[in-house]
Amino acid sequence: MNWDYLQPVKIRFGKGRVSEVKDLAKEMGIKNGLLVADPFFFTNGLAERIVKESEGAIIASFGDLSPNPDVTEVDACAAIIREKEIGFVVALGGGSSMDCAKAAASIALTDDSIRKYHGTGVAMPQEHLPLIAVPTTAGTGSEVTCVSVLTDHANGKKSPIVSDGFFPSYAIIDPELTYTMPPKVTAGTGIDVLSHALEGFWSKGHQPICDACALHAAELVFQYLYKAYLDPADEEAREKMCEASLIAGLAFTLPKTTSSHACSFPLTNIHHIPHGEACGMTLDYFARINAKGADGARIDEFARKLGFKDTEEMADAIHELKAKMGLRNDLKDLHLTEEQISELVRISRHPNLYNNPVEITDEMLSEMYHKLA
Ligand code: NAD
Repeated sequence: MNWDYLQPVKIRFGKGRVSEVKDLAKEMGIKNGLLVADPFFFTNGLAERIVKESEGAIIASFGDLSPNPDVTEVDACAAIIREKEIGFVVALGGGSSMDCAKAAASIALTDDSIRKYHGTGVAMPQEHLPLIAVPTTAGTGSEVTCVSVLTDHANGKKSPIVSDGFFPSYAIIDPELTYTMPPKVTAGTGIDVLSHALEGFWSKGHQPICDACALHAAELVFQYLYKAYLDPADEEAREKMCEASLIAGLAFTLPKTTSSHACSFPLTNIHHIPHGEACGMTLDYFARINAKGADGARIDEFARKLGFKDTEEMADAIHELKAKMGLRNDLKDLHLTEEQISELVRISRHPNLYNNPVEITDEMLSEMYHKLA
């Protein structure tokens, strides 16, 4: 088996380390920073604090972005980068802020709209501004991935773009920043972590380093996610979920995600189910399917290392964990019509589906969506 590994992001992990943004800004020796932050952090004062502490290194901020950031938001952010001759970018927030910043930090060095690269297969330019990623959810792992997931709401398209230029220069993971996540966000983003670990592990592109990361991350999720959900102030649980999120990011960025992420795109786009919850929706379903395929023994072994008898028992535990946290295990309340189910099947046929170890046919997708509906 041949495999390659690359992880160029310099990682700083620990409570209170968000204050090191200013040190990195100085260390990089680049002027004119832009802070791209989730709107929440303009209301709680953190965005203002980071700009102030940078002592002039960060000269502007951008917060006009929404969950599942739109291509127009990336273009607007890139326009500010060009206009203010920005030299580096700091991204503060969940996957939405980090992904918007990653894409903007690349296209700003061109005259292009991100639409040229979104879902078109056109390769992103390699040149990009340096990025410091500061996650505030324990979910996407975007701080260490070469992926930016964007949505073109006008054209009904949600899709990841992959580019080596999207790896941030630095990631600062400060668990304290996640304390303000409401339980519903903790639950959804935490299930996203488990999806990354499992999908990275069973992806056709799996490899030993990512496998080890996947196992470690999944173990932490089963141990700490429910604790963080029950008690947002549980410092140990918050820290361990940040560790899990980061390490699950390392587990999937090279092997790539698979069936659950492919199905999440229409669930989020059309039915507005938050990203993590949408991924988790089908995770136990695909675990059971993949365990019956040629790689079934590998997945059973993964489940056994986590303390389960086999994949079936692990899938039951995932189902139960979602239910305990009030996350969806079905789509019954949407009262889907046959036409809507066909639409879900059609849009789930996304490139990520082809990374799944078992070939997923339209008939299988249709059967799954009928059961969930
Ligand atoms: P998010 O960034 O969309 O944030 C979700 C909600 O939580 C928002 O309302 C935000 O304001 C709020 N929030 C974030 N941090 C908070 C905090 N500390 N306290 C209070 N509220 C907070 O959520 P996410 O799940 O981190 O990101 C989802 C996006 O990331 C999706 O677009 C998804 O497709 C993408 N994604 C990207 C990658 C990648 O590698 N680039 C991987 C997985 C998912």
